[in-house]
Amino acid sequence: MLGTSGNLSAVISRTPLRLAITESSVAKGTLTPQQILEVNERGEAVRPKGSRPSAETLLHCVIARERGAGAVLHTHSVWSTILSDVHAAVGAVTISGYEMEKGFAGVRTHEHREIVPILENDQDMTRLAARVSDVLRDRSDAHALLLRQHGLYTWGATLDEAERHVEIAEFLFEVLVRKHTMEVMEKRT
Ligand SMILES: [Zn+2]
Repeated sequence: MLGTSGNLSAVISRTPLRLAITESSVAKGTLTPQQILEVNERGEAVRPKGSRPSAETLLHCVIARERGAGAVLHTHSVWSTILSDVHAAVGAVTISGYEMEKGFAGVRTHEHREIVPILENDQDMTRLAARVSDVLRDRSDAHALLLRQHGLYTWGATLDEAERHVEIAEFLFEVLVRKHTMEVMEKRT
């Protein structure tokens, strides 16, 4: 998580929905307990009062609610940034045939087709949260989604599962980009 990019959350209460989430603009490599805030279902800070949660907190709330996730993780990587842009016109990245797909919860075979939806990036979080909600309903089998030229959102029943999903998704994204680059180079020679 380079610079102060990305944000991390875990559900601490389901009813009412309460998330522990990283504070806005903090380096994740040196996180302190004071930089983890408690927010409500509208993404507003509950504790400590007056603190500033990540701008994208509302997206975490929507994903936790729609998926019943125990944790939601968001990263900005080189590979997700490239793929989300290159595949934006078709609206999704399709991954199939890779053993590592079995790292996604419930996937038993490399023949699984993982479709990662891509949404246009937006600074209006209310509007973007509504679109994320729609996409999650349309693609009830997705384990992750991409924001164009921005990054990855993934989730899991637990924090460990969500972390595994980040590693699996990032691995697969890197494979796709590197493979495509090699194929293009081979065609030229
Ligand atoms: Zn972001």
